[in-house]
Amino acid sequence: MAALPLAPGSTVGILGGGQLGRMLALAAARLGFDVAVLERQADSPAGRVAMKLIVGAYEDEAALEELAQLTDVVTYEFENVPAKSVEWLVTRGVEVAPGPKALAVAQDRVAEKTFLNANGAPTVAFAEADTPEAAVAAVAQIGAPALMKTRREGYDGKGQRWVEHAADAARVFAELGSVPVIVEARADFVRELSIIAARGRDGGTAVYPLAENHHEKGILRRSIAPAKAPKALQDRAERISARVLSGLEYVGVIGIELFELRDGTLLVNEIAPRVHNTGHWTMDGCEVDQFEQHIRAVAGWSLGPTHPTHQVEMLNLLGEEALAWRRFAAEPETRVHLYGKREAKPGRKMGHINRVKPL
Ligand code: AMP
Repeated sequence: MAALPLAPGSTVGILGGGQLGRMLALAAARLGFDVAVLERQADSPAGRVAMKLIVGAYEDEAALEELAQLTDVVTYEFENVPAKSVEWLVTRGVEVAPGPKALAVAQDRVAEKTFLNANGAPTVAFAEADTPEAAVAAVAQIGAPALMKTRREGYDGKGQRWVEHAADAARVFAELGSVPVIVEARADFVRELSIIAARGRDGGTAVYPLAENHHEKGILRRSIAPAKAPKALQDRAERISARVLSGLEYVGVIGIELFELRDGTLLVNEIAPRVHNTGHWTMDGCEVDQFEQHIRAVAGWSLGPTHPTHQVEMLNLLGEEALAWRRFAAEPETRVHLYGKREAKPGRKMGHINRVKPL
């Protein structure tokens, strides 16, 4: 077992080598930690900034063993890491954070919404279905139009379809692959918000100001933060995050996506047990950003201050948009963050920029 708080010079393990892993690794290095990344690809955004890269699948026991030998605590940048791999590390005495409960809840949309409602964090009405007949019944129960989503492994708007009439439900169920689904009532929201929150190993919490988020084709395009929001709305979001964090006995940073309804009610859309794209603004807009905060939490350090220092517009650079780095770099108000991905495929998150203004 690692002695916590983890001393500088110790090694933090990260499952996953994407951009979130890269920004976590850079933050960890700033605090004096070494980083070991386990990732399937030999060339990855996080692998290229880590002290040690272990190339392997998450299920690869030899790779997990190597990670366990090297590291004192392990975290992940991706919520679909197999629960078994995390259990395996825990049985080897590795401290894994966020823990297995957060992972189990976040991996299954039905478990997630059931957990949220049981913990006083409201969501849209929902029903589950495992067969075409059950899918039709679920849409009839919830009311069309309804959103059908695969229970597992959806991201960036993938694995979900609108059902306009209950009679279409069996066809949509088949289009989604005839896998277990959740059917959700349509949220009649005025805007999408998110709150990034953190909980330390001592149970202390910290929350960031709300961000207002805009998506295109299911992918986050832009966040504006701190969002224009009355104090009552921020307080409501903070109460929701406190319930979620304590209900999950959480350690680390969590992203909570919210729908704001016309009357100011907040519904939780989903939770991500990791650092979150809608929290990238904190890198240039807050005293301690979400990446350092996450490393502090998993390492058992005290959490840092979350006060905003700047107004930020965060823009994701998708595909070839990142080729305009020269122009962005020439703008004095723009902070450029590029992930070092070799190939600019359409829609791929290549980097982001934070346009900052004094508050
Ligand atoms: P998700 O993959 O659950 O984050 O959904 C991706 C996007 O689909 C969200 O950011 C919303 O814009 C939209 N969406 C998801 N669920 C609902 C819902 N129940 N009602 C209306 N829009 C939704």
